[in-house]
Amino acid sequence: MEKNHYQGLINKYRQYLPVTDTTPVVTLNEGNTPLIKADNLAKKIGLDCEIYLKYEGSNPTGSFKDRGMTMAVTKAKEAGAKAIICASTGNTSASAAAYGAKAGMKTFVLIPDGYIALGKLSQAMMYGAEIIAIKGNFDEALERVIEISQKYPVTLVNSVNPFRIEGQKTGAFEICEALGDAPDYHFIPVGNAGNITAYFKGYEEFLALGKTTHLPKMMGFEAEGAAAIVKGERILKPETIATAIRIGNPASWKQAENARDKSGGIINFVNDDQIVEAYKLLASTEGILAEPASAASVAGLIKANKLGLVEPGKKIVCILTGNGLKDPDSAIKYSGCEVKKTSSELSDILKAMQI
Ligand SMILES: *Cc1c(COP(=O)(O)O)cnc(C)c1O
Repeated sequence: MEKNHYQGLINKYRQYLPVTDTTPVVTLNEGNTPLIKADNLAKKIGLDCEIYLKYEGSNPTGSFKDRGMTMAVTKAKEAGAKAIICASTGNTSASAAAYGAKAGMKTFVLIPDGYIALGKLSQAMMYGAEIIAIKGNFDEALERVIEISQKYPVTLVNSVNPFRIEGQKTGAFEICEALGDAPDYHFIPVGNAGNITAYFKGYEEFLALGKTTHLPKMMGFEAEGAAAIVKGERILKPETIATAIRIGNPASWKQAENARDKSGGIINFVNDDQIVEAYKLLASTEGILAEPASAASVAGLIKANKLGLVEPGKKIVCILTGNGLKDPDSAIKYSGCEVKKTSSELSDILKAMQI
C-alpha cells in the first residue's frame, strides 16, 4: 500500500502559500474538511439547487480559524517569535492557544468578559493560554492587542495578520477541487470579515490559474444586531446570540465590500430568530450541529431564497464555520428537548417511549 498521510493545508497547498522548504511548519493537520451534500435541507426550504455544507467544525480545534492559525503561527515561528496574542470572540483564542502550544510559544488572549461560549473558553484554558477577560467587546479587545503587539515582542495572530488570510483561502481551493469548478453561490457568516476576504482571494487565485471558470457570487451575512457593513456604520454595542459574529467594526470591512462587488454578490443580515431556526434545521434535517454563528450562512440562504435572489439549478456552498459542541448552552436552550425520566423498569421505559 502506498503511504498517504494528510499532513495539513500548508503541506498540501504549499505552492500557493508564502512558505519555503525550510519554513518550520506548525500544523495539527487542519483542513481537508467534509463538503456535505444537503438534499434534505434543499427540499425543506423548497430550493431546486445542489446545496453543499463545508463543515469547518471538523478542524482540530473545531473551527475554520485553524486554517489561518497554522499559517500565522508557522510564520511567527519562522521569524523567531516567542509569544503570540489575539483578541477573540472565542474560536480564535482556542485556535491560537492550540497552535501556540504546538509551537512551544506563550499565548495571550483577550476576550470580552461573559460573551464566550463555554467550549471555547475551556479549550483555551486546557491549551495553556494566558486568558485576560476585559470589560468591553471584541472591537475594543482588538484595538488593545494591536497596540500591545506594536510595542512589545508578541506577534498578533488576528485576521489583520495577512498570513491568516493566506491560510484561510485554502477553504476555497478544497471546495473547487471537490466540485471540479467554483460553486455559483458562496454563503458565509460575516463577523470581522476575514473569512469572506480569504475565500474570495482563494477563488480569485484559482480562476487566475485557469483551474476554475468563474467566481461564485459571495453572499455574506452579518447578524442584524452587528450589521456594520450593511448599515454602513460602526456599531458601538453589537448584540446577537451568535457570539462569534458579535463584532461592530469589522477589520476587513473594505475587503468584504470588494468581494461582494467584484463577484456580484451581496452582504445582508439575518436576525437571531432566523439564526436559531437555521441552527435547529441543520441539526434536525442534516444531522449537523454547527454553532449558532455558523448557521448565519444557512439562515442567509433561506432569506436570499425568499427574496428571489437565488436562481434554481445552481450549485451553492454554505460555510459552517464552527462546531456546535463548542456552545452546549445554546444547544440545550434552543433544542426544545425535554429529557424523560423513568425508573429502570421496562414497562416504564416503554410508557415513556409511547410505543
Ligand atoms: C470567527 C468566526 C466567524 C466570523 O469570521 P470572520 O472572519 O471574523 O468574518 C464566524 N463563525 C465562527 C464560528 C467563527 O469562529
